[in-house]
Amino acid sequence: VQREWGLKHCLKHVAYRTKKQTSCLDCGHVWAGPQKVKSCICPACGTRLHVEDTLKRKLDQREWMAVLDVNNEFQVVRIFEIFSYHKAGEKARYYVWEVIQQFFNPDLEMQVVGRLCGSMGNGNNFYGDMEIRSTDSYYGNKYDLWPTKIYPKIKCLPEYKRNGYTVAVHGISPYQIFNKIISDNVAETLLKVKQYGLLELRLGNKRHDVKRHWDSVKICIRNKYMITAKDAVTWLDYMDLLEYFRKDRRSPKYVCPTNLKKDHDRLVKKKVAEEKRRTIEKQKQKIESSQKAYIKSKGMFFGLAFTSGRLTVKVLEHVEEFLNEGLSHHHCVFTNAYYKKEDSLIFSAQINGQSVETVEVSLTDFRIVQSRGIRNQATDYNQQIIDLINKNMKAIADRRKAVKKEAA
Ligand SMILES: [Zn+2]
Repeated sequence: VQREWGLKHCLKHVAYRTKKQTSCLDCGHVWAGPQKVKSCICPACGTRLHVEDTLKRKLDQREWMAVLDVNNEFQVVRIFEIFSYHKAGEKARYYVWEVIQQFFNPDLEMQVVGRLCGSMGNGNNFYGDMEIRSTDSYYGNKYDLWPTKIYPKIKCLPEYKRNGYTVAVHGISPYQIFNKIISDNVAETLLKVKQYGLLELRLGNKRHDVKRHWDSVKICIRNKYMITAKDAVTWLDYMDLLEYFRKDRRSPKYVCPTNLKKDHDRLVKKKVAEEKRRTIEKQKQKIESSQKAYIKSKGMFFGLAFTSGRLTVKVLEHVEEFLNEGLSHHHCVFTNAYYKKEDSLIFSAQINGQSVETVEVSLTDFRIVQSRGIRNQATDYNQQIIDLINKNMKAIADRRKAVKKEAA
């Protein structure tokens, strides 16, 4: 009976269709089946078949079925491997054998009886006799196998049943559940209240996050707010955001949103804006403290501006302008503190008051070092900008000479 159920539910049931005929890969019946439809029922064996248009003739399948049983004081998870070999025009051949038995008891160490498991070609292959095996292996536990399906008539030790074990738990292998629910209060509670999404995360790589937000989880449970498997990660993420904004994570108003995704996305946006504002604020202090030194070293060039048509090139007069240039072009004129470089004079090239490129002129040999627009790329105005500055290079040099003369 279990074998029949496994063949029916774990395997795919396929028909291969050519232009002339359709072949049931289960019973081997070949007939002039309907064209175009994606699925049909085999007139010979009555199986619903998924139809594939192909010239292939063969299909091999391998799947696993778990049967939950009780043996004396043990909860037993028996895993059967199902092989099927199909060929168009022939009756399929099946081979089913048991490969693993996992024995669980709340008070005892878990034991595994299984066949040897070797890695050959694609995936693990079982061979040899059923014997007690170690689950410790360099390659991870090969005996924690995810079954394709669990046989629905389950026998369950009362200790596990009391904790709410049912086959409805998707996304977690029975091994994980029996291994952990008795020893983990958090997982046990999540299982009892059917919060399978969070349970999955608790048994997986987000176990600490679930624990960290446990007070909020309890609010959800009390308010019968179910978190689906699909939403569980987003919900945890949303809790982190509530924490960041110091919202009350015990209030159902925040913890149980009617539109989780919308609230989550709104807070993400808010956090990005907040962090940007903070960076600018932090840099404000840097700007103020650098401005005096900047005036001292480059003040002699202030007021320099050249125009040609719509294009204007002018000297940056405030460190804050370095920040603006850097932010709007995503380059490093501010982060690398060009305002401190003795040899550099920085200009902003603007069209109608909008900065298009940032220009660096060397004060040693009065030559353009670089002129860059967004993400360090040259814009269409690049040549025009270079020409305009070169034409006025003497005026820049004269400013410097005037100061030197004064000093002398
Ligand atoms: Zn058939």
